Amino acid sequence: MWYSSLLGGNVMAKYSNKINKIRTFALSLIFIGILIMYVGIFFRQTPIVMTLFIIIGFLAIIASTVVYFWIGMLSTKAVQVVCPSCNKTTKVLGRVDMCMYCNEPLTLDPSLEGKEFDEKYNKKK
Ligand SMILES: [Zn+2]
Repeated sequence: MWYSSLLGGNVMAKYSNKINKIRTFALSLIFIGILIMYVGIFFRQTPIVMTLFIIIGFLAIIASTVVYFWIGMLSTKAVQVVCPSCNKTTKVLGRVDMCMYCNEPLTLDPSLEGKEFDEKYNKKK
């Protein structure tokens, strides 16, 4: 079990835990897929268009399955840490990430401790 350090500074709401973010994306893909297939029903008179909509909707659902699989892969790479702020076990992906529960910015790199959160820390040089 690792212990992460807290990053300082105010964090804008646009940042959130990466794994959570991808999971939300996968979930919305399923809904979009179902919605596209539903729209296809309105084109019953033109079977080609209806089939097209159903295929696109089906592909969106397949894509979400792939994304879910990808999350599983990422989760194994992510480091489990105990959040110093809320004391819950969360997963950190990359050098800096947010707590899944309280959105506290966390880092595994001691040299970044106390610095302001910046997503560019995750980019490789
Ligand atoms: Zn937390």
